[in-house]
Amino acid sequence: MSQAQPALELVDVHKSYGDLSVLKGISLKANDGDVISILGSSGSGKSTLLRCINLLERPNAGRILVAGEELVLKPAKDGYLDAASRPQLESMRSRIGFVFQSFNLWPHKTILENIIEAPMRVLKQPRAQAVARAEELLARVGLADKRNAYPGNLSGGQQQRIAIARALAMDPQVLLFDEPTSALDPELVNEVLSVMHSLADEGRTMLIVTHEMRFAREVSSQVVFLHQGQIEEIGSPEQVFDNPKSTRVRDFMSSHL
Ligand code: ADP
Ligand code: MG
Repeated sequence: MSQAQPALELVDVHKSYGDLSVLKGISLKANDGDVISILGSSGSGKSTLLRCINLLERPNAGRILVAGEELVLKPAKDGYLDAASRPQLESMRSRIGFVFQSFNLWPHKTILENIIEAPMRVLKQPRAQAVARAEELLARVGLADKRNAYPGNLSGGQQQRIAIARALAMDPQVLLFDEPTSALDPELVNEVLSVMHSLADEGRTMLIVTHEMRFAREVSSQVVFLHQGQIEEIGSPEQVFDNPKSTRVRDFMSSHL
């Protein structure tokens, strides 16, 4: 019987910056609907891992497959990306949504323009179709009335909900979140977590770097603990939070609860 392809698969991914080895062989699989939380101390490689998956960084070795498809880049002689690889890079990247800690909305575009830009440019959606979908998504994140506002006029929590709507507009196979609530005032954290919770409930495939332990425990199908660029422990939330095998994980948990 043929098995469905994992939504995302990493095979022995390595990444260094110069002499600094940051990812030392990460293998990980996310099936459709999996929510994988990634925990670990500062500097353990969490952001680098997400950036490699989204092809913002190029791994030095290893494979990354999205629904079974691998991006095979032809490096140019100077080490930069070969022009022929660009369309495939853009197409692969459009299948992976990325939500940053710092929102990264375009400040000079309205909220609506922020959301429709990539669907129109990358997916070649007609404007009317992109606008209709954006309106749906704005309603979904509870911000229908902000379509003509500019990012600078919104709270951090609202901006992050817009960033999520913008990612969803591409209908990505996998959504990546890099500490999506770390830049927010505490009273704004829950409005963002509750949108993420509803995405998890509807079966979205997500990888979430977060320090929100209670949230991670509630939504995750798997929890990964990174330490110095390697997976120190991986398991169900119950296992990793309540009964970690690694003393390092145990210490981390007790200092974060
Ligand atoms: P985390 O997100 O877990 O805090 P990062 O992935 O941001 O960790 O960083 C892991 C290590 O890689 C750190 O030592 C960091 O200083 C280093 N690093 C990250 N990005 C770069 C870069 N662009 N150039 C050089 N070193 C980097
Ligand atoms: Mg980080």
